[in-house]
Amino acid sequence: MSYCVNCGVELDKTASFCPLCQTPVNNPVSPVDRTSPPPFPLNRQEVAPVSKKELALVISTLMAAASASCGIMNLFFFSPQIPWSAYVTGGLALVWVWVILPLFKLKLRAAEYFVLDLAATAAYVAMIAYTVNGWQWYIRLALPVIALFGALFGGFGVVFWNKRSTLTGCMGFIGCVGVFLLLLELLLDLWVTKQYSPGWSIVTAAVCVSLILPLSVIRLRPALREEARRRFHL
Ligand SMILES: [Zn+2]
Repeated sequence: MSYCVNCGVELDKTASFCPLCQTPVNNPVSPVDRTSPPPFPLNRQEVAPVSKKELALVISTLMAAASASCGIMNLFFFSPQIPWSAYVTGGLALVWVWVILPLFKLKLRAAEYFVLDLAATAAYVAMIAYTVNGWQWYIRLALPVIALFGALFGGFGVVFWNKRSTLTGCMGFIGCVGVFLLLLELLLDLWVTKQYSPGWSIVTAAVCVSLILPLSVIRLRPALREEARRRFHL
């Protein structure tokens, strides 16, 4: 049994140098055993990580299979008079566009993905509107809500994309959520009662403001900002 003269680690009898500090082993009492196999493999071997593209392909296949089987069940077995499988397939397609499509790493910019997401959402809701004959609410409520969402969060993306300050990004996002909910209630009120009476969205707006205020104090005080950056690894 040898020990490394430099770092003192216990060495295997087959080691000709210390595996920790690379010091050559030279022990005349017990020479290096060059015939026995070393205790650990010499070649580094790793299982290659699964690429996101392949994972996306597997998930896409699963989703396609799920919607195909739903379609068959809908056609032949369960309530053929209601097109429920279209909702399932549409929902899966929506999730696919939002979540799975970016994994394929197409040469699209974030803004193009966002426009695709909005278009897919509008198409899915349009399909529901078509099946329940609800073009009225689709045009007067659903489309404005989707457009509002796109304008607010698309604008947020344009302003804060590639910005280094996470804190400012957080504040902007919370502000967008607050404004979105305020205008959502306005749209809902106009659709349901044709009269704007703000209620729950005032509460959510107040919550957003009460989150933004302390964040902006932290943002303005350099010492606090550094502390937050250290603690939350920003
Ligand atoms: Zn050593």
